[in-house]
Amino acid sequence: MENFFPHCGKSGLRAEWRRLLDARGPAQDALFARADAVRRAHCGDAVPVRAILEFSNACANDCLYCGIRASNPLPARYRMTPDEILAAVHGIAAGGTAGTVVLQSGETPGPADEDLAALLRRIKAEFPALAITLSVGNRPRDVYARWRDAGMDRYLLRFETSDPDLFARLHPGSTLADRLGCLRDLQALGVQTGGGFMIGLPGETPDTLAGNILLCREFDFDMIGIGPFIPCPGTPLENESNAYAGDPDLFFRAIAVLRLACPDAHIPATTAFDALFPDGRDRALRCGANVFMPNATPQPFRRDYQLYPGKPCVDEEPADCTRCTRARLRALGRPVAPGPGHSLKKQAPPGNRPVL
Ligand code: SAM
Repeated sequence: MENFFPHCGKSGLRAEWRRLLDARGPAQDALFARADAVRRAHCGDAVPVRAILEFSNACANDCLYCGIRASNPLPARYRMTPDEILAAVHGIAAGGTAGTVVLQSGETPGPADEDLAALLRRIKAEFPALAITLSVGNRPRDVYARWRDAGMDRYLLRFETSDPDLFARLHPGSTLADRLGCLRDLQALGVQTGGGFMIGLPGETPDTLAGNILLCREFDFDMIGIGPFIPCPGTPLENESNAYAGDPDLFFRAIAVLRLACPDAHIPATTAFDALFPDGRDRALRCGANVFMPNATPQPFRRDYQLYPGKPCVDEEPADCTRCTRARLRALGRPVAPGPGHSLKKQAPPGNRPVL
C-alpha cells in the first residue's frame, strides 16, 4: 500500500487526519482534488458497479440506530424466497451493468445459514461471471468458511465505530471485539473483506472518526463502506442528531481522508449520501469514492428495508436504478468497470486493477 503519511506514527496519523477533516474553503477543495487524484491513480476512472439485493429485513438484533432492528414494529417483515432471489439475480446479470451482487439482510443466525449456502451454490452455478458479496452480520468462522466454499467471494461487515464503549451502547449483547474477530476470521479465510463505519453517531467525536479511519488502515480492508448516520423513526435514536449536523461537508471530507489513508481500497459512494443530498453519491465519487451500488431489490420489498428515512429509490424498479446508474456515471465521465471488480490488493485475482 502506498504510504501518503510516511513519517507519522499512530498519534501523528490521527493528528494529521484531524487537521484534514477540519479543512474548509480552499483547503477543503485541495483535499477533495488530492483524494480524487489518488483515486484515479490507484483505482482508475472505471467504476465497479455492485447491485445490492436486500433479500430479507428479518433481524434478531436491536442495534439502537437501525430501522430494521427487531423491536421496531414499523417495517412489515419479509424474506424473499430462493426463487425470488434467483429471479432478481437473473435481472442483474441480464442488465449487464453490475459485476457483483451484494446479498444483504438483517441478522438471523441459525438454520437459515445452510439455506444461504445452498442459495450461493445455485447463484454461482447459474451466474459464474457474477461475484457474490454477502452482508448478513456476525457469524462463527465455520459458517463463513462454508459460505466461502459455496461461492461467496466477499463479505461486508461494518465495524460501525472504533470506540468500544460507544459500540457496546449501540449494540445490545455485542462487543466491538466480537465484530473485529469476525473481520479477522474473514480475512484469515481469504475472503475479500469489507469493513466500515457510520459517520456522526451520537456520542462520537472527530477523534473517534480519526480512530475509525485508523482501524480501516490497520485492517487493510479490500473495501470500506462509510456513510452518515441518519436518525430513524421507531428507533431509540430517532430524536438524536448526527454529531456533525452543522457541518455536512464533513461527510465528504471523511471520504477524502479515507482515500488518502487507504489508497487502494474499494470505497463505495454509499446510498446514505443520497438520502441527505440529492447528488450525494456523485459528490462522493468526485472526492475519493470509486464504487457505485444501485439498489436491485424488487418491489414490493423496498419500502420495508428502510434503515433510515429519505432512502432514495423506494418506489423504483431495479431496471430504473440500472438506467439511472449508467446516466449518472456517464454525466461524471466515469465508465462502468467491466468484470467483477475484485479487490485491488496485490494478492487478489486480477479485477479491473489499473496499470500504474
Ligand atoms: N445485518 C448486516 C450487518 O449488520 O452488517 C447488514 C445489514 S445492516 C442494516 C447494514 C448497515 O446499515 C449497517 O452496517 C449500518 O452501518 C447501516 N445503517 C443502519 N441503520 C442506519 C442509520 N440509521 N443510518 C445510517 N446507516 C445505517
